[in-house]
Amino acid sequence: MEQLNHQFIANQWVLSRGQRHIEATNPFDETILAVLTAGDAADVDEAVSAARVALPEWRALGGRRRGDWLMHIADALEKRREALMHCSSTNNGKVLAEAAMDIDDAIACYRYYANQACELETRQGRPVETAMPGVSAFEYEVPVGVAGLITPWNFPLVTSAWKIAPALAAGCTIVFKPSEVTPLPELALAEIALEIGLPAGVFNLLLGDGEGIGAPLARHSGIDKLSFTGSNGVGEAIMREAAAGTRNLSLELGGKSPIVVLDDAEPEQAADWIMAGLYFNAGQLCSATSRLIVDQQVVEPVLKALGERIDALSLGNPLDPQTTMGPLASAEQRERVRGYLSRARQEGLIAVRDEHHRKLPERGFFVAPVLYRDVPIDSALWREEIFGPVLCTHTASSEQDAVALANDSDFGLAATVISSDVDRARRIAAELESGIVWFNTEQLVLPEISWGGMKRSGIGRELGPQGLAAYLEIKHVVGPSDD
Ligand code: NAD
Repeated sequence: MEQLNHQFIANQWVLSRGQRHIEATNPFDETILAVLTAGDAADVDEAVSAARVALPEWRALGGRRRGDWLMHIADALEKRREALMHCSSTNNGKVLAEAAMDIDDAIACYRYYANQACELETRQGRPVETAMPGVSAFEYEVPVGVAGLITPWNFPLVTSAWKIAPALAAGCTIVFKPSEVTPLPELALAEIALEIGLPAGVFNLLLGDGEGIGAPLARHSGIDKLSFTGSNGVGEAIMREAAAGTRNLSLELGGKSPIVVLDDAEPEQAADWIMAGLYFNAGQLCSATSRLIVDQQVVEPVLKALGERIDALSLGNPLDPQTTMGPLASAEQRERVRGYLSRARQEGLIAVRDEHHRKLPERGFFVAPVLYRDVPIDSALWREEIFGPVLCTHTASSEQDAVALANDSDFGLAATVISSDVDRARRIAAELESGIVWFNTEQLVLPEISWGGMKRSGIGRELGPQGLAAYLEIKHVVGPSDD
């Protein structure tokens, strides 16, 4: 068992000031993988100071050279690909094939922002046309400053890449706090910073929980930009902290995303996409399409096809290539999901597959994949994010009914539309209140395409050019022209 009682500050492993300890577990066999310090406000002070000292040189380096550093990070991740897949799967419980996708997505993200950093440099000082004669104006995009980055546990290395890569590309220096549930894969980033010789203080990593590190980081006056991914409750607390000092903020929060299956959809194909949108990562996706809205004409064949696919899921050791669904990431998360399953029993929901339909592995934080039909729209399971393998179905009587049901949510992160008619699918997609809408595909997440939510799903966007803009301030320089 590893003892993780150091913090990574200014390229040094320094002893944490935190006295409390937290266990990081293997959710498959419930063994303790590491004991880490919960961190302390003094650790945050030291890391923020280091990031502030490093800021002027990193900012002055220019986008092209910062892009080179990002390429080095991507190369170093690639070199560790197999080890990181294993580490992520062991610490998070996700199946190995999904861990591989995560690492590849992270690498692609660092490479994408390496190129974005180069382009940023070419745009600096861009002349801006004005209607007033005799005036010249130039536009610059400058880093916001020191960024505090806080991430959850469901996609280790990926959620962090979405923040670290654009922040470094923009010229910000960083204090990064990964989730205390999955710290182990993220530690590779500190090793990489040392290995490639990233300038000291540009990247600082603090181990700890919300109380020890998260809250002190969010309220630290030396942080100019906060970027948070996680639950709505914590996101709102961070927003209140950011108000002091009028600090820049991005939030990626929860979801309760719809998947709309129209009457002309092919049921077997639809079932494949529905499965991928909900049971992937054991349903621990912020974009999980957990509200299935299916036209009454195809509901029976779709539910039949889903039942067959659920029965075919193989729950077990995430490192075994035969396994298609692992445990949930923590005992706490399993309890949260079990709480919803007991609410479902109290509400009398009709299960196509309930939580007892199969025998679960004896150890590990497993829950069975569950499917409910005819779920009332005032059910807690229809309205609240569950973050587990629980799919709720409601039947739609028409296209308009389906759109109204889909948009009837506090959240607006993601949605999917399935129809054999591409034009119809795109027309419905345009009507959905969501940051991303997929049609006739599984959930494609690409570095070029921005990610973020409408309504209570968040503020701002990650990925794409907007993901870089989140770490930049626009500055104009205006004066008389030469002629
Ligand atoms: P969480 O909000 O409990 O924790 C997220 C992070 O915040 C962790 O690092 C945690 O230590 C830290 N934290 C906790 N309390 C804090 C505080 N008071 N101040 C500052 N930091 C604090 O969320 P979680 O359980 O780790 O993740 C699940 C949630 O994340 C779900 O609601 C899910 O929808 C959301 N999520 C959203 C996206 C997205 O892109 N929108 C992606 C992944 C997860």
